[in-house]
Amino acid sequence: MGQDEFQVISKYFQRSTEDSAVLLGIGDDAAVVEVAGPMVVTTDTMVSGVHFPSETSGDVVGYRVLAANLSDLAAMGAEPRWCTLALTMENAQDEWLAKFSNGFFDLAYEYGVSLIGGDLTRGPLVVTAQLFGVGKKDHLLTRSGGNVDDQIYVTGSLGDSVAGLSLINKGIADASDRHQVLKNRFLRPTPRVSEGIAMRGIANAAIDISDGLLADLGHICQASGCGAVIDVERLPLSEELRTLFSLEEAQNFAICGGEDYELCFTASPDDEPAIKKCLEPSGTKAYPIGQLVKQPGVVCHRSGKPFMPASTGYLHFT
Ligand code: ADP
Ligand code: MG
Repeated sequence: MGQDEFQVISKYFQRSTEDSAVLLGIGDDAAVVEVAGPMVVTTDTMVSGVHFPSETSGDVVGYRVLAANLSDLAAMGAEPRWCTLALTMENAQDEWLAKFSNGFFDLAYEYGVSLIGGDLTRGPLVVTAQLFGVGKKDHLLTRSGGNVDDQIYVTGSLGDSVAGLSLINKGIADASDRHQVLKNRFLRPTPRVSEGIAMRGIANAAIDISDGLLADLGHICQASGCGAVIDVERLPLSEELRTLFSLEEAQNFAICGGEDYELCFTASPDDEPAIKKCLEPSGTKAYPIGQLVKQPGVVCHRSGKPFMPASTGYLHFT
């Protein structure tokens, strides 16, 4: 970034934090934080032209890179706290940077995340965020803790993000509320952070749905050494998705669509009342959609019969 580098940092990224655990933030060779508990770390990179079209508004890029990281920490039952941001750009455009940093900090403030450092380099647009959080000892959620006969749950609703993406890709300029709700589920997904924390000590295994339910539930099964049977008719579908798409399309989006950033978790069937109670403060519901079984692999049922989804692939942005 040449001589502009420090101006860019101070103008767009150096913001004060109220987190007293940040002993040293932006401005030195490295940041220093005081950690009380297991530190949980994740990172996510978004490449222009691969993860988003090059003309995507900066605020969407800034929001989504942090949202993806927040969702990973949610799936671990950890509290997000500190973030670093590595930004590679062709040039330092004020308009893009202003939007990007606003999109990023909107979400950072909402979730109590302090930006404590980063890097700026010149090159094709690539954004990497690394998020640090704190978990509770012996209460971390992992993919590997699932047991045969566990009930499988998903939060919120599935398929909205990929349905919204399909509306964006088709260039449908319908500004009606339903269209907007679905598009926003893609552009500004809500990471289920408080829901993940609420599941500590209850869920046996958890993952966030970033690649699609089938793929991500498959990861739980593989890590837990079991399989899963899910009932397609029990997948939670939003009113918007059901209204704008056929039932078959909606169910396919729900099974295969990625980037909903909902949580998929498993728990003992006895814990259903506890789950309901724990999620009450967040206002989010979790829906039982099937069971973990001995037989490896993920099997879908519809009307009691095995059902093959139309596609298992993830529908990419570009
Ligand atoms: P160094 O050369 O020692 O790695 P830099 O000169 O690259 O440090 O960065 C100066 C300070 O600004 C460091 O504290 C770094 O963490 C911070 N920083 C650099 N880029 C960003 C960014 N995109 N967002 C937040 N902080 C940043
Ligand atoms: Mg540097």
